[in-house]
Amino acid sequence: MAKLKKIPVRKEQIYEGKAKVIFKTSDPDHHIMYFKDDATAFNAQKKGTIVNKGVINNAMSARMFEFLEKKGVKTHFVKKLSDREMLVKKLEIIPVEVIVRNLSAGSLSKRLGVEEGLKLKEPILEFCYKSDPLGDPFINDYIVRAFGFATKAELKVISETALKVNKLMSKFFDKRGIILVDYKLEFGRFKGKVLLGDEITPDGCRLWDKKTREKLDKDRFRRDLGNIEEAYQKVLAKISE
Ligand code: 5GP
Repeated sequence: MAKLKKIPVRKEQIYEGKAKVIFKTSDPDHHIMYFKDDATAFNAQKKGTIVNKGVINNAMSARMFEFLEKKGVKTHFVKKLSDREMLVKKLEIIPVEVIVRNLSAGSLSKRLGVEEGLKLKEPILEFCYKSDPLGDPFINDYIVRAFGFATKAELKVISETALKVNKLMSKFFDKRGIILVDYKLEFGRFKGKVLLGDEITPDGCRLWDKKTREKLDKDRFRRDLGNIEEAYQKVLAKISE
């Protein structure tokens, strides 16, 4: 955890996203992320709420960022402030979603016409352009560099960090009876360094029960499978052990 003499005070809202609200603080280098219960899917065509999602996702993100920081991954996480609030470093967002996959699922299965749940021979790293109006289109590293979304050096840090996080998190979840199928990461710049940002929650990770292969993530909302809050709570309970 970064050493802060005084916890910055929450100031005005600067951005409201689909699942979080970002507030300025009394310290120009820090923001407060507030986790909402709102859930969206399919580029916000499907909307709803998941009871207590904000509380669960804040707790889970804090747990995961603390774990990753301990293992040497640099993140924007500073401190969990309350049930729904987290103090984070103010990042200059890199507009690239980094997706890491260990098993086939979701859009990869659709694209390639393969069943879900096939173990991949090696992890897949994908990039998407962060744009709601365009529906986060698939891009590659050439596009990232050619449009200046990130430099070659930044892309190297991003790719290496994403794969390191994958090794760490796959083992972490496996030990707790969960398969890390795939997930999305976001990165940003802070004082010249690239840090892992955003959140690590069942909203952006596919997590399956190792024994039963039950889905414990947002696919329950996307696919109307029910018991969504229970699944999120189950993940939080397992990772809090
Ligand atoms: P897919 O490309 O199969 O839809 O998603 C791959 C993984 O990335 C899934 O774990 C999914 O939750 C995550 N993901 C992809 N795009 C987004 C997004 O825009 N928001 C969130 N929360 N997760 C995403």
